[in-house]
Amino acid sequence: MPYQFACSEGSCQFAIRSSSSDEVERLVRAHVRMTHNGRIDRADIERGMERVELA
Ligand SMILES: [Zn+2]
Repeated sequence: MPYQFACSEGSCQFAIRSSSSDEVERLVRAHVRMTHNGRIDRADIERGMERVELA
């Protein structure tokens, strides 16, 4: 079951999808650090992460 996360910072278009929630979390952290020069709480990542059912 893939997971996806779409960044909600301003007009940021960053979105990722992975079969691993750990990988999503790692990539989101890297994105926020590099692109927004900030940090994101695990709770915010979990809140923004959606499970995607493949048709
Ligand atoms: Zn972003």
